[in-house]
Amino acid sequence: MRFKERVLATVTRLAAVLLVPLAACRAPGNACHAPGNACRAPGRARFLACQWALGLRFPAEDLRGLAPEALTAFMCARAEAFWRDGQLIGLTSGHRDAAEQRRIFAEEVRRTGSISAARRRVLPPEESMHVRGLAIDVRPTEGARWLEQNGGRYGLYRVYENEWWHFEFRTVEPVRLPHPDAAAEACAHGIAFGLCPLHGNGPWHYRLSPLAAAADCPPMYGDPGDPAKGPRRRW
Ligand SMILES: [Zn+2]
Repeated sequence: MRFKERVLATVTRLAAVLLVPLAACRAPGNACHAPGNACRAPGRARFLACQWALGLRFPAEDLRGLAPEALTAFMCARAEAFWRDGQLIGLTSGHRDAAEQRRIFAEEVRRTGSISAARRRVLPPEESMHVRGLAIDVRPTEGARWLEQNGGRYGLYRVYENEWWHFEFRTVEPVRLPHPDAAAEACAHGIAFGLCPLHGNGPWHYRLSPLAAAADCPPMYGDPGDPAKGPRRRW
């Protein structure tokens, strides 16, 4: 960590300690809860004080639009990182609307020269977890490393080898993929062996199908919990 960042981290920790009494007045009591996991942050006042201090350290971060479960998980995880291990975690990018994601994807296609190359770094809006409010990009690298090691307690997982900053809220730990387009690549190679992915948001899940080798992969389920988004083609 560079000297300037170390100084800023120390100032942020000091600010949080100084803000605790004020936070105690604003939010007395204990405990916040991530879904299924008790938040390990020690008390509501310290939880709130560190969110304020982190907001001062990372003034550009925007938590709006995140799904409630992802927001709670992120805030509780970084409160634990802050008070238990002195690690600062800031949000670089959270929710993006479909138009913004489309613009970022188009820019990446232009920069890399092809859709398949662009998909290794950015997904189109209909596939992006950022659009659904379930993905967060974090910084700095030390904070991301902490989240990689401890985020699972809150349902936050790093999902791509080539993106140390990108985490997603999941109820089940995912298999980590080499890059965002890995599921599509696996499909392209897998169909030769009769394997196709089943769920758009579950790139680790495949089904053996006699149709696959003869044709392209059929439409996938959008969400395993939503039967209304089932595939148009019967298996
Ligand atoms: Zn991301």
